[in-house]
Amino acid sequence: MAEFVIPAPTPASVAVQDSPARFPVRRIFCVGRNYAEHAREFGNDPDKEPPFFFTKPADAVIDDGFTLPYPSATSDLHFEAELVVAIGKGGANITETSALSHVWGYAPGNDLTRRDLQAEAKAMKRPWDMSKGFDRSAPCGALVPVSVAGHPTDAVLTCTVNGAVKQKAKLSDMIWSVPAIIAFLSQRVELHAGDLIYTGTPAGVGPLQRGDSCEVSITGLGRVTTNIA
Ligand code: MN
Repeated sequence: MAEFVIPAPTPASVAVQDSPARFPVRRIFCVGRNYAEHAREFGNDPDKEPPFFFTKPADAVIDDGFTLPYPSATSDLHFEAELVVAIGKGGANITETSALSHVWGYAPGNDLTRRDLQAEAKAMKRPWDMSKGFDRSAPCGALVPVSVAGHPTDAVLTCTVNGAVKQKAKLSDMIWSVPAIIAFLSQRVELHAGDLIYTGTPAGVGPLQRGDSCEVSITGLGRVTTNIA
């Protein structure tokens, strides 16, 4: 064990369904524009683009039921309902056919976004970090292990705000499937156990206000609720 000059931080982690043990989070990767209708709602052509990725800090994860103070530096906080893939076995240049053997489990997640800062970054051709990777920007429900849930391919992803449905899509509507995402990403970085991948959001993203309760659910995988204070 190395000695550290300051106390080493506690690893970020997410809950595991029906278990007191938690899943340690190493890194968070997110896929952009992975549902055709969502790509179109921001004026992009879903047929022309390979997947692209951005990241959030590992300690951006928050659990189900977290009360989030409205983030600083924005007046347009948005929800993005997504399937989260938890990597249990790392690797580089993973093939699509073996990709699912690297998955430990799945959860519903929310890729919270400062939409105004993202629009500004796009216009100025600057990075998205401050619009996507801010503190507590990654709500994640309890992971369901593959041994329990299998690999959900046709489950329904739903986002509600104060009970009103805002997003609803089948996971099969994803342009890039989970195996394709893992194969593509692992050609660019070596994946490691503990990595999370937020796999993109369908159409219908919108703002959250103070006092709102936002719930992302996936059939068979439970839910993650975030309250905005
Ligand atoms: Mn997203």
